[in-house]
Amino acid sequence: MTSGMRYPFLDLRTVNERYLANLHEAADRVIDSGRYIGGEEVELFEQELAESCRASDAVGVSNGLDALRLIMTAWQELGWIRRGDGVIVPGNTFIASVLAVVHAGLRPVLTDPDYDTSCLTAEAIEKACEKDSGIRAVMPVHLYGRVAWDADIAETVKRCKLLVIEDAAQSIGAIATEPGLFGSRMAGALGHAGAFSFYPTKNVGALGDAGAVVTHSKELAESVRQLANYGSDRRYHSISIGFNCRMDPMQAAMLRLKLPDTRHANARRFERAVAYNNVIRHPLIRKPAISPQVTDCVWHQYVVRVTEGHRDELQQYLTANGVGTDIHYPIPPHSQPCFKELAHGDLPVSEQLASEVLSLPISDCTSVADAAAIGRIINEFKASEKK
Ligand SMILES: *Cc1c(COP(=O)(O)O)cnc(C)c1O
Repeated sequence: MTSGMRYPFLDLRTVNERYLANLHEAADRVIDSGRYIGGEEVELFEQELAESCRASDAVGVSNGLDALRLIMTAWQELGWIRRGDGVIVPGNTFIASVLAVVHAGLRPVLTDPDYDTSCLTAEAIEKACEKDSGIRAVMPVHLYGRVAWDADIAETVKRCKLLVIEDAAQSIGAIATEPGLFGSRMAGALGHAGAFSFYPTKNVGALGDAGAVVTHSKELAESVRQLANYGSDRRYHSISIGFNCRMDPMQAAMLRLKLPDTRHANARRFERAVAYNNVIRHPLIRKPAISPQVTDCVWHQYVVRVTEGHRDELQQYLTANGVGTDIHYPIPPHSQPCFKELAHGDLPVSEQLASEVLSLPISDCTSVADAAAIGRIINEFKASEKK
């Protein structure tokens, strides 16, 4: 899509360049090991991920969607929640957050996020619970890498007795300003369970599909582990109607060498976000806020909002000027054809965001100087008269 662009939105070959020699070495190690499912690479990755999240347990799984689905299925196995119970999900999230709830036999309660942060607020969670007594859980989505967690949310979920499942697919390494329910402040370890995705474009990307569940509950980790492996507690003995959602050792080996670089990789993204914020000045464009806390956002995407009616025009202008962009996301879940029958009421904020957001390049393919140059190109954008 962005090939031939002066400033590509993302090029995974370039992103992986800095790890290349080690990736080849890790692949060779797995090939030579003769162990292609589970084993030491996966176990060590799980330990290293749990440690980095300050959580007791991590379970490597097939991808982020499965991580979310397994958590909510395990909750039912353990009797923490019942089929058909409501789960609050922000209306502007990626479709996978909602698919996971439906696949787990639960009921998504789509709720508008805050316009400025794109994240759920305590107030929105509280209001949803007042309207719908069947709500038992909430899924904060740390969208674009920004942690959707504060003292008010912590207080609200405790008072409303909600289970908390974090969609941390975009936020590995982000640190909340307030502690989570079990003490850790790391994204993914704030609530009862968190789901990570290591899809190749995420801040820490595998060379294929991969994901993980992180939790402070040994019981939940064990249930997820069983469900992901045919529901078996030992070989050829299934205690639940499980799936095959295991992480493979090839991906675990790739991820083990990238995981220790998470903090630096996130810091590089931050530098680009700062460069954009310093340079971009345009009456039609709202820039994302950079909080003084710095580490509470890991800049999975750098997303500007373009005044109503001018977003697509700006995107075309940038394409013509060699700048690759993307939109996260153009159609909110409740407007997707697959969710036609689900009545969700109005989600005006989610709809407005879908028509205004534009993501600029922020990966390792874009240097800080590139970001400044892209900012200057944006400043020269002249909107047409007609809307
Ligand atoms: C990527 C992503 C997922 C799904 O992860 P996969 O590994 O692609 O299944 C879920 N939620 C969000 C917010 C994501 O960005």
